[in-house]
Amino acid sequence: MTEHTKTDGLPGIEPQILERAKPRSERMASDKIECNACPVLCQITAGRSGACDRYANVDGTLVRVDPVILLKKVLGSSDGAVVPFTGRPGMEEDDTQGKSGESPVAESEWNGDLLHAGEVFVTGVGSSTTYPDYKPAPFIVSSRAEGVDMVTVVTEGIFSYCSFKVKIDTDRYLGPEQANVRYKGEVVGHVTTAEYGSQMLSLGGVHHLTGGSKKEGRLTAEMMQVIGNKQAAELTIDGGSQVMIHAGRAPIVNGIEEQRMRVGCGSATIGIFAKQLYGKVDEVIVVDDHITGVLTEHQAGRCLDIPPSGVKIRGRKSTPGRYFQVANPGIGWGGTDISDPISIIEGWDPDVAWPGLRLLMTSTTGEHSAWFVLDDSLCPIEQDMPAEVEKVVQRIGENCEPSLTTVLFLGGAGGSLRAGVTENPVLLTRSIKQALVNVTCGGAPAYVWPGGGITVMTDVMRMPDNSFGTVPTPAIVAPIEFTMKLADYQALGGHMDYVRSLSSVLGTGAWHNEGAPTRRRWLQQPSINAWPADVGPMLG
Ligand code: SF4
Repeated sequence: MTEHTKTDGLPGIEPQILERAKPRSERMASDKIECNACPVLCQITAGRSGACDRYANVDGTLVRVDPVILLKKVLGSSDGAVVPFTGRPGMEEDDTQGKSGESPVAESEWNGDLLHAGEVFVTGVGSSTTYPDYKPAPFIVSSRAEGVDMVTVVTEGIFSYCSFKVKIDTDRYLGPEQANVRYKGEVVGHVTTAEYGSQMLSLGGVHHLTGGSKKEGRLTAEMMQVIGNKQAAELTIDGGSQVMIHAGRAPIVNGIEEQRMRVGCGSATIGIFAKQLYGKVDEVIVVDDHITGVLTEHQAGRCLDIPPSGVKIRGRKSTPGRYFQVANPGIGWGGTDISDPISIIEGWDPDVAWPGLRLLMTSTTGEHSAWFVLDDSLCPIEQDMPAEVEKVVQRIGENCEPSLTTVLFLGGAGGSLRAGVTENPVLLTRSIKQALVNVTCGGAPAYVWPGGGITVMTDVMRMPDNSFGTVPTPAIVAPIEFTMKLADYQALGGHMDYVRSLSSVLGTGAWHNEGAPTRRRWLQQPSINAWPADVGPMLG
């Protein structure tokens, strides 16, 4: 028997998307509004902002206080200023001040010329979010690029699953692998594997954000926001160094600014410069924490037919002319703890070595170097380095690239973000993996990791300044944009009813009023970044 229901014969009932939820408590003061842009649900009094300083109650309307950042291929003379969305209902008298204290400027310089639409990109920075996850993204912008209808879905994601991978170009010993990294005393990450010329750190991540004490989570989020926004953070490593990191600048280790990134390990340095040192020296030892090189035993020396010197090196011999563990790690010569290089020499074979033997010792950066000559008892005596040898040491230094700190944001874009794009989130993931959808973070290219999900990685130096925020859940707020052909957007089940033209977006802002940004700011797309609509995703 068929069961009848009260809605038989009636059209299906669609839930209404309320811009603002009903108050949780009847007792909430009538001049307060509840922000539902994150799970904290701040109750905000008129004229005040919520816990994260990103949303405020402006005359009874919840407003995203920072301007949304728009990128242009080429900037005009009036660009860079903050201007209100002129057609925004109820927002013409916008007198809010963003966190950065910019004043709103009266006139919009955009004339709606769609011929230039392919030169404008709406970023997620300041755009507001899709929380509590069922809402379409705040900006779903259609435009035309080279005759093709495109769409960009723009949002500020709230990331609990995210971290920063930090590459510190240094020879200095920062700390043992797996050691805790602390910020203001709290553990916020760990030392991971060293790479050529660099020490890698993993900072932040869901474990520290959610798995420890409240203070650990709060300071982890704070540190992540600081380094993501290209500011300096001081870290200490258990059993190691104190290091100041600042994206795009030289790291400062134990108060000393790093200058040079090594040219290679000790063995590589021997190989690279063997020919240039031929005939000017009898032996070269390149001191290095990992692989110390000895010219006469090394294959490079043998190929050049340089006779053995009879030197005996401390440490574990790996292959001819390559020694491991010559000293402990440290901040001395070549990332070891030694200040006297001779201490790694165990002795000389008297049947092979000879008085007057000329020995060069150097580090892999050339920052440390010394010249010795063996006396009659085969004891190395330090002397002034000959100019022709000094020139090669200088060449080693010249070949060192400047030390930098590189900060990469690594985030997993899960359900909530994807639901802002499509009702069937897995289709977005598949479309990205099929190279149909480009992913950017604040307009900067994002490398998409292989495997399941949308795990992206972006160099913060390519993103607009102050792209990152936090919410006290605690989590990181970061911009993300998905750009694709309009037809592909339709095919992946996109929120077609919310697609709006660029000129409409530039006039009135987000599709919703509650929690929307009221102002916008133009920036020029950095020339280092490809235009997001012109390229496919960087798939791993
Ligand atoms: S922390 Fe910020 S985003 Fe979250 S509810 Fe409060 S004001 Fe809104």
